[in-house]
Amino acid sequence: MYFLADDERKQLLRYYLPKARELGVAEELRGWNWHQPPLEPVYGAVLALYEVAGRYCPSGRDVFLRRVQGIRGEPNLAMIQGAVLHDILADLLVAAKRAIYLYGTGNYRAICEALEKYAPAPPLPSTGLSEAEAADLLGKMEILCSFERARVLSRLQEVLARHPYIGEDSLANLTIPVVLEQKLNGAFLGLSGNLSTDAFIFSEPMILDLKFGEPRDFHRLGTTGYALVMEALYEFPVNLGCIVYGEFRGDRLIVKRDIHIISDELRQWFIEERDEKARFVAEEIDPGLAGDCPATCPFYRVCRPGG
Ligand code: SF4
Repeated sequence: MYFLADDERKQLLRYYLPKARELGVAEELRGWNWHQPPLEPVYGAVLALYEVAGRYCPSGRDVFLRRVQGIRGEPNLAMIQGAVLHDILADLLVAAKRAIYLYGTGNYRAICEALEKYAPAPPLPSTGLSEAEAADLLGKMEILCSFERARVLSRLQEVLARHPYIGEDSLANLTIPVVLEQKLNGAFLGLSGNLSTDAFIFSEPMILDLKFGEPRDFHRLGTTGYALVMEALYEFPVNLGCIVYGEFRGDRLIVKRDIHIISDELRQWFIEERDEKARFVAEEIDPGLAGDCPATCPFYRVCRPGG
């Protein structure tokens, strides 16, 4: 899912990277300037990154309910499926890295066998899914694993064929050149101390975010938030984001990637969202009902008890 296709890679190298350098970013909007406006957090409230970046509730009442009223929403089916699919993908990739380190380049057949044997376990009853939903999800997990397994195996063979003297560490890095679930402390920017990016590529710093739902314009706020946090922590520029959309059509997995520049506009939008939602929490302001509440909203029964 996180490995770019040849044409996307070309687009990245020939268009997005040079374009990002050409456009530049206003210095005050770089994450390393977290200690001064406009990045400096104005309110004391600490928010999760998904709370800032998620605009599923247009009024931001979900954040007020969770943080001020202490109400936990009921995760909807898409949220449960998304979490399970994220976990299984990360688990498969980590298992592949582990097999590389365990068996080494001298025993690459054992690496391939370990990957071929990898099979997802059915979703746990604690997910609260019905039998039919769990079976449907397991089917999707198998499709996802089969897709990713084939890609990892192909990359592994390719790297081994090109580099006859390669060692395990380099093989792991070239085969799976992403850090999964990288933990980040967002405290400099008024965000949670336990953030986690889906994946990060170091060779050309790019934040990757995996989604299994419909594309929404605000999804880019997530990659923007992580880019700002990375800049604040490590003081190097992160100019690019990529949202990977996975869609299941029958027994096929369709993958689309939205590569984008973490522009000044996105950075400003993220800061505005953060400040507005942090104000709701710090000053205990109820922003009121959104005009158009989706029935799948985790807080629907709280906000609209009459349905
Ligand atoms: S039910 Fe409506 S107002 Fe309440 S959190 Fe959901 S979208 Fe927002």
